[in-house]
Amino acid sequence: MTLTYEEFANRTDEIRKKIEAYCLSYGRHPQEVTLLPVTKNHPVTAFEYVSRYGLLSAGENRVQEAMSKKEQFSGQLKIELIGHLQTNKAKAAALHFDRIQSVDSIKLIHHLDRHASESDRNLPILLQFNAGNDPAKHGAEISKASSMMEEALSKKNLQIDGLMTIAPFSKDSEIAKRTFMTLRECRDMLADQFAVTLPVLSMGMSGDLEEAIAAGSTQVRIGTALFGSRE
Ligand SMILES: *Cc1c(COP(=O)(O)O)cnc(C)c1O
Repeated sequence: MTLTYEEFANRTDEIRKKIEAYCLSYGRHPQEVTLLPVTKNHPVTAFEYVSRYGLLSAGENRVQEAMSKKEQFSGQLKIELIGHLQTNKAKAAALHFDRIQSVDSIKLIHHLDRHASESDRNLPILLQFNAGNDPAKHGAEISKASSMMEEALSKKNLQIDGLMTIAPFSKDSEIAKRTFMTLRECRDMLADQFAVTLPVLSMGMSGDLEEAIAAGSTQVRIGTALFGSRE
């Protein structure tokens, strides 16, 4: 990684200013939206930058890669899994991540709860939905939201913080907007139906930050705008 810490800090300042400006223009409080820097495909230096800047968490999309970086890193950083999780890696994920955002099937809910219970953990999760109906994206269908939620709520060792989605890749910003509104409505519907709060809406990346904040995102996951493009 050729990026210096100063460059990273400048980019992070810029993104935080953008988040603040979008919040103000959509009538939201800037503190409602947290920035999750996405360190995937970058070396452990990325963890060091994030931590030095004072951010508390980073997003990683592969179990093995995140674990190896954690081993090399001596500081304190919470790591959230944002990439697709296969059931054969559920045990390692349940042990090593501070939150798993990519929970997209009932089978995975079962596995994660069992492994969390074996290690006596209360594991924070988000349910991931394919709110933009994009065949190229992971995430459960929105039509499965109630049954997934019911299953997740029945698990003693899972704590459901909210929902996550990835918008389809498109030049048309209306598509991202619609995707994020769909996830927000799904969250409101589930919160109402099950009388729970579901405070976290993890949505928005480098290319669709504004649409996400407009629709109610509480966590934006930013990689490229902070670290540059990945190989
Ligand atoms: C890579 C990734 C991001 C960050 O995307 P950028 O466009 O680089 O900001 C966010 N969320 C998920 C799930 C990702 O895999």
